[in-house]
Amino acid sequence: PDQSDPDPSKKTLVVLGTGWGSVSLLKNLDTENYNVIVISPRNYFLFTPLLPSCTTGTIEHRSIMEPVRNFLRHKKASVKFYEAEATRIDYEKRIVFINDDSEIKGEINSTEVPFDMLVVGVGAENATFGIPGVREHGMFLKEVGDAQQIRKRIMDCCETATFKDQSPEEVKRLLHMVVVGGGPTGVEFAGELQDFFESDLKKWIPEIVDNFHVTLVEALPNVLPMFSKQLIEYTEKTFDEEKITIRTRTMVKNVTDKYIEAQSTGPDGKPKLEKIPYGLLVWATGNALRPVVKDLMGQIPAQKESRRGLAVNEYLVVKGTENIWAVGDCAIANYAPTAQVAAQEGAFLARLFNQMAKTIEIEDELKQCSDAQERAPTKEARDQVFMQIKELQKRLRRVKQIGPFEYSHQGSLAYIGSEKAVADISWLTGNFATGGTLTYFFWRSAYLSMCFSTRNRVLVVVDWIKSKLFGRDVSRE
Ligand code: FAD
Ligand code: NAD
Repeated sequence: PDQSDPDPSKKTLVVLGTGWGSVSLLKNLDTENYNVIVISPRNYFLFTPLLPSCTTGTIEHRSIMEPVRNFLRHKKASVKFYEAEATRIDYEKRIVFINDDSEIKGEINSTEVPFDMLVVGVGAENATFGIPGVREHGMFLKEVGDAQQIRKRIMDCCETATFKDQSPEEVKRLLHMVVVGGGPTGVEFAGELQDFFESDLKKWIPEIVDNFHVTLVEALPNVLPMFSKQLIEYTEKTFDEEKITIRTRTMVKNVTDKYIEAQSTGPDGKPKLEKIPYGLLVWATGNALRPVVKDLMGQIPAQKESRRGLAVNEYLVVKGTENIWAVGDCAIANYAPTAQVAAQEGAFLARLFNQMAKTIEIEDELKQCSDAQERAPTKEARDQVFMQIKELQKRLRRVKQIGPFEYSHQGSLAYIGSEKAVADISWLTGNFATGGTLTYFFWRSAYLSMCFSTRNRVLVVVDWIKSKLFGRDVSRE
């Protein structure tokens, strides 16, 4: 048979997504044990922690992308990859419906993939809370395409602001860069953007100096709610020095093409609605469910109570099923939706699946041994098989001993601009919080070490050197 044909003696394991969760699973999985099929609309892994740096050209986007074909081809047994989106999962029939959403389509662009085991690692969508105008006018920061669009828009705003005879109000509006959401995505982007202005834009386009302004809007009383109080204060102080305006307790209610409408509390304690004009609007208010996940949850009665994602048990099995697992942002296992969690969950599943395959192997051997014991002609031969069985049973107990998933938190890190970073780190000695330039070097080296491959590491370092030496490129592609 063709080497790529599924082996009928093995179970078919379908993995959805090529993000942090799924890729960590694939990296650690012994693919010889299953017919592995990977389905994702993205044929690469994206190192999201450095994505904010791509919006200003500090790093080129290709430096943080790793083609999945590149690492899948090194796996022991071949893995099939389909560049497609899973549009529906039929839980009862054990089928995934897939659709090729790319520009070039063949005669067939949608089909079905049957599975014995399924891992859902499709991540999340951008939350908009149904606020009108966000999808039409705001820009998200989740995928490579988003970072490219933002980079283009920043330059477009700057060039349009310097267009001949532009009115002062219009110049002010075009150069007002508004970021909604004071979580780490919003904070890191705001920091990167201000850096871009301070170190490059100011020099290259001096006309914009008086009007370029970054504002960060957050509904809660402070930014970075997951960091310690001390680091929140440090971030807010640093932003103040960098001249980034933070508008806390301000909730965006409506978005038009030229301004946002935000509600805050006026000095009289009454709610106040104001219009804030902008040129660039980046929307970073967290995660929402993907439709394919919502649909799956609707098919499983045990998921009825779950709102934010697929409820999983301590082995990451989707509650109410026995052959579907979920990892990362689409799974709710009581951890924050971070890369750190997704990667550990993926690695755990790989261990679990490797052990499951070993269990089946040992159980088969055990069955053969007991048959052999019955057929053994002499007592001596029977005793010999008995010893083998004992040994196998011992091995089986060891293999079956895999404990439930436990997350080990290494800490939180965020870049806040002007070569400063904040870090809440958990080490053996306990937790400690740090911020500043030294932390920035720690942030850089930590992220560098976490990059997917040596190739990525080299490319990122070269980009850092390039942008330091020559400045970031301000051409609008
Ligand atoms: P993702 O990595 O989002 O991957 C989902 C995958 O599923 C993608 O390949 C996608 O193409 C695919 N997919 C989507 N829909 C379908 C479908 N219908 N069918 C099949 N496949 C599908 N976390 C940290 O811990 N540290 C950080 O510094 C950090 N920085 C971040 C910076 C930014 C700008 C962003 C946006 C996030 C950051 N995060 C960080 C969070 C982190 O990226 C996510 O928690 C992580 O990506 C979740 O992993 P995942 O595998 O669940 O999803
Ligand atoms: P988030 O959920 O962490 O933050 C979103 C923020 O938007 C919240 O503080 C919320 O109060 C605010 N918000 C919501 N609606 C609003 C409105 N209408 N007006 C004003 N503010 C509003 O989202 P995120 O920053 O995109 O992060 C998503 C996940 O990815 C998080 O788990 C985060 O930890 C992780 N992440 C981590 C890092 C890092 O560790 N460096 C970087 C980026 C993302």
